[in-house]
Order: sequence, then structure tokens, then C-alpha cells
Amino acid sequence: MSADQSKSTLLPSNPEALLAHYQQMMELAGDVIYTTNAEGFCVYVNPSVKQVLGYTPEQMIGMHFSDLVHPDSRQQVVEFYRRQFSRLTSQSIYEFPVVTRAGETRSFEQVVTLIVEQGQAVGFHAHLRDMSQHKQIQDNLVETVDSLLMVVERANVALFVARDETITYANSALEVLAGYGENELSGKPLLDLVHPDDHQHMQKSLANPGLPGKPIKIVRLDGEERWIDLATNSTTFESQPAIIGTCYDITARIRAEADRKAYVDRLEIIRRVDAELTQRLEFNYVLEIALKAAVELTVADAGALHLAEKEGLWVAQVIGKYPKSVLGSRWPKDRGITGRVYRTQKAEIVMDVREDPDYVPNVSNTLAQMTVPLIAHNRLIGILNVQTAEPCLFSEQKFEFLMLLSARIASALENARLYSDTQAHLVEVEKLYQQVSALEQMKTQMIRVAAHDLRNPLGVISGYLQMLHWDLDATLNERSREHLHIIQQSAERIDKITRDILTLEKMEANQGLPNEQMDLSEIVTASYEEFRSQASEKSLDYQLNIAPGSILAQGDRNLLAETVGNLISNAIKYTPEKGQVKVLLKTEGKQIVFEVEDTGYGIPQEQQGNLFKPFQRVILKETRAIKGTGLGLHLVKSIVERHQGQMHFSSTYGKGSVFGFELPLAATPSVKARSRKNGVGAAR
Ligand code: ADP
Repeated sequence: MSADQSKSTLLPSNPEALLAHYQQMMELAGDVIYTTNAEGFCVYVNPSVKQVLGYTPEQMIGMHFSDLVHPDSRQQVVEFYRRQFSRLTSQSIYEFPVVTRAGETRSFEQVVTLIVEQGQAVGFHAHLRDMSQHKQIQDNLVETVDSLLMVVERANVALFVARDETITYANSALEVLAGYGENELSGKPLLDLVHPDDHQHMQKSLANPGLPGKPIKIVRLDGEERWIDLATNSTTFESQPAIIGTCYDITARIRAEADRKAYVDRLEIIRRVDAELTQRLEFNYVLEIALKAAVELTVADAGALHLAEKEGLWVAQVIGKYPKSVLGSRWPKDRGITGRVYRTQKAEIVMDVREDPDYVPNVSNTLAQMTVPLIAHNRLIGILNVQTAEPCLFSEQKFEFLMLLSARIASALENARLYSDTQAHLVEVEKLYQQVSALEQMKTQMIRVAAHDLRNPLGVISGYLQMLHWDLDATLNERSREHLHIIQQSAERIDKITRDILTLEKMEANQGLPNEQMDLSEIVTASYEEFRSQASEKSLDYQLNIAPGSILAQGDRNLLAETVGNLISNAIKYTPEKGQVKVLLKTEGKQIVFEVEDTGYGIPQEQQGNLFKPFQRVILKETRAIKGTGLGLHLVKSIVERHQGQMHFSSTYGKGSVFGFELPLAATPSVKARSRKNGVGAAR
């Protein structure tokens, strides 16, 4: 078969133009196209051969096609085509290695169409396509997809591809996250992984790819809940639109946040309880608030607060399911977990009370119990316990918080107890004070009435005594005269007592005290003289020492005279015969100093404390016979203080005493003022 022959056979007999076009196509094709005769020698080769194999068409014409085949495969290739020829297989595709003119071996795919004439194969058309590049691309592609898949598989981020809310692909990170085995997620509805609360949320995320969403709670195959941050994006998977989702496991973060929030919430409860407890101090209120807070904090079903006493515990407050009937009852020290904590003073959390041999059931269905001692200032105040039927609600963390809260409760209870004790004492003291005041008032009233009412009969007695004295003086014997004298002395004493009482009363009522200026030297001298006879009766060395000039004081002349007289009279009274009494008046700066010094019996140290209180008398065998009321010094002190002065005294038992006072010196009217008063100033 010649090349021309085959060419003419192949081409359609009709239009010329089509032939030309066809020829042109072959000329321009990037692949090698050639035609052989029946023996396999090339009769036509298109120009691309130069580009593809390095041969010119001319060089190729007359070449056997198998010369192109790599020697190792040549035999096999020739055999293949021989079979095609003999079987008259009209078309075949076969791939074999071809050696180019430059000696390079490349893989080619050859499409062969047999040229058959009258039932005989007379040659073939071959279309030779370089597969090496294609293969390379394909190999590369496979490799790229593999490594991409590997990246996706190994990624820590869980990934899924979903279509119509059904998982079409899930990487192993997602399988691990959701607790599924290899390839178990494919084909599963996505919502199967999501907590029902978040179904809507998940659907929203899938429907709005690219939009940020909230964390989603998923439920693992084993039931554990986890949280993911989900980002969705539109993609194409296996040539169809799909959603790709990346899930970041944020469980740790969410749990940490929840823990932090719970921590803050509990601190807030403690702060509120603290504020509440410090505001109110009523013991029962503190008990109620404290237990309520403990139960609220631990989400317990029941709680009880036992208070400690010397004999043991008693149930002071109960809440929730705790039976109210036990309220106020005693709780033996050796009873239940509460008793144990009382003995050890150590807080306990028991997660299954059924396994605790000490547990005494008093709240039905209780499974877990937290029991905490309430200790303030190292003293056990009571025991607090909370109970629950759901042990999962109790945790170490809550236990710690309960202990924290208990410390506050303990000190609040202690404060409330102190407060109520103080209140109780206060009420008692107030009651006593009122009783004493009432008595005091009654006494004062009685004394005043008595003193006042005694004045008149006393005056009558004194008057008639005087008359008796005059009438009977000549006829009386010594004994009767003595009796009359004693009656007179007693009447004088009663007179002194009633006067003192009335003076005191007048001062206490703070009424009618004149405020005049007086020369104290005159008062002291007069008083000194008044007692001279008494002093000489006891043969005392009786002295007066007054600074020269007038010593002006401001106030009530009679009261100050009484003060001076009282102190001089005491000194004479409490100094034995032949002793010494010195009366002194002087000024020191702006102060008047008055003192009476004696060498009398003195007062023992231990009896000096209450000397100026009313009705106080020093008890001494030496002075037992000396009459007195115990009112004098009290009166003196009251008068001195009313005149802005101060008492002073010192005394040594067996040696003598000094009693005195300081008074402010009254300001003398200035020369200018006096002159103006006399009209001198007006003349100028
Ligand atoms: P009385 O009327 O008993 O003298 P006073 O109030 O004047 O009452 O004195 C109270 C007590 O103080 C007296 O009973 C006396 O024991 C003691 N006392 C007062 N002055 C002196 C003094 N100068 N020396 C010793 N004891 C004195």
C-alpha cells in the first residue's frame, strides 16, 4: 500500500474544501499524526513531529513506526498491533515509551484507526500524544491533594464539610472532639453533635456562612458536654456547594470563665452576707441570714445551725427540708457527723452519707453533707451543716467557700452574742439605776422634809431651854445643870445637822445663791475668833496667819463662812489636847489659798478615798466619842466647787492633817473704773 493510496482512501470523496480543512488541522495539531502502510512504514507524518520527537516528517517517512518505540517495549508493541491487524480491530489506544531523536524516553498514548480495504488491513492512522507531562501533572495533583488531606487530617482544628446539615467529611480532630471513631461521622446529621439548646444557633451558623457566631455547646458520644467556637464558610466539595466548618475547642476557656463567674458570685454572696451581718446585730436575725446564705451558696436542700454550750449542742436554726420539730432541742456531742465535727473541730464533706457509720438521717433522701465548725477567737461557737440529695451539687470548691463563709458567720454570731449580752446588761443596769435614783430621790425628799420640819420644834426647844436655864439656874444642883447642858448640846447638834442639810439642798437645787464680793480675811478672822474658846478649852496652840491687805473673793458670804468654820472646827475637834492648829490665808498668783493645819489624829490612807462623800465618817477608836454627822466635808467641797475652787488635803494617821482650798481671786475694780464712778473721768 502506498502513501498516496491510503491518503485517498481515507478522505471523503466529496468536497475538496473539507479535505483541505482536514489536512490543515492535522498540520496544525500539537500531537504527532502519522499514517503507515500495511507493513507499518510511515507514509505520512504531520509537521508537529519535529516539535514533539525531533524528527522532520521527511526523516520519518519510510521509517517503521516501531523504530520510535523504546527497544525494551518494541517487541510487545509490535505484537499488539499485529493482533489488531489480524483481528481487524478498527480502533485501539495503547500507551508505550517512545525514544525521541535526542534519545529521551517519554510515555506516549497512541490512538490507532485501521485502514481497511476490501476486508484487508492496508495500514493505519496513528495519533501519538505525549503523556509524560499529563502524567506529571496528574501525579503532582494526586500528591497535592494527599498532602492537603494530610494537613487537614493532622490539624488540631476540627473540620467538617457539610451539605444540607449533614456531615460529608470530618477530620480526625473533629472525631476526637466529638468522641467518635474513624469515619463514623460521615453521613451523620450535624445537629446530632449539638446540644438541643444550641440547635437553632448551629442552624443559623450553617445558613449564614462567614458570619461570626456564639460558642456552641456540643455533646460528645459519651455524653460529656464541650464548647466550640464555630466558623463556617461556603465551599465546593466534590463539585457541589457545601459548608466548611472549623471548630475550635474552647471548653477549657468556657469552664474557666464559668469557674471564675461562680467564684465571683460566691464572693458576692459572702460580701452581701458580710454587709448584712455587720448591719444587724440581733442574734436571731444573724442566725437566720447566716444559714440562708450557706444554703444559697451551696445550693443545698436543707441546713441546720447548732450552737455550742457547756453541756453540748442545741439546734438553733433549721432551713429547707430540715424537720422544724428539732428546733430548740439538744444535740448530743456524740451524735452524727455534727457530733464528730464538734469533737474534732474539723470541717468535713461527706459525699455519700450512706457509707458514713456516724450519719444520723434526719432529712429524707440526703446523700451528701458538708459540716463546718463555727470558730471565733479560738472558741467553738457552733456547727453548721448543709445537706443535699444530689451530691453532684457539692464540690470541693463549694466546701472551701462554705468554710470561708463560716468564719464570717462565726464572728458575726460572736458579735451578736456580745451585743445581746451588753444589751441585757444595759437593761439591767438601767433598771438598777432607776431604782437607785428613785430611792435617792425619796431619801433626799425625806431628809429635806425632816430637816425643814425639825427647824420649828427645835427653835421652840432651844428657846424654852434658855428660859429654863434662866429661871432655874440658881436652884439647880450640879447634876441637873449637867443634864440641861447635854440637852442644849444635843439641840445645837440637831440644829447644825438640819442647817447643813438645808444648805446642801439649797445648793443642789442651784437656787438663790448671792454673788457678792467680800474680803475673805475678814471672814477667816471672824471664824478663827469664833472657835478660840473651843481651842483654849483643849489647850491648843491655836494660830492665825493671814497675808496683809484684803483678799477678795466672789460668791456667797454665808456659805464661804460656813466652809471656813467647818474646816477650823474639824481641826479643833480631831486634835487631842495640847496639840496645834494653824489657820492660814494667803494668795498665790490669782488664787486665794486657805488652809487649816493640825497635829491631830490624822486619817489612815485606806479611809481617805470617800472622805468627801455625804455621811462619811472615819472609823477610829481615838475619835469614836467625837460627835459628827459626816456631812461637813461634803458640804465644804460642794461650796468650794460652786465658787470655781478646788479642795486639797493631806493627812497622816497619828500625825495630823492639812485641809484647805483654793479659790479664784476676785478682780479688784480698776483705778480708772473707780475714778469714773467717782465722777473724775467725767470732769476730764
Ligand atoms: P463630821 O461631822 O463627822 O466631822 P465631816 O464631814 O466634817 O463630818 O468629816 C468627816 C470625817 O472626816 C470626820 O468624821 C472625821 O473622821 C474626818 N475628819 C475631818 N476633818 C478631820 C481632821 N482635821 N483630822 C482628822 N480627821 C478629820
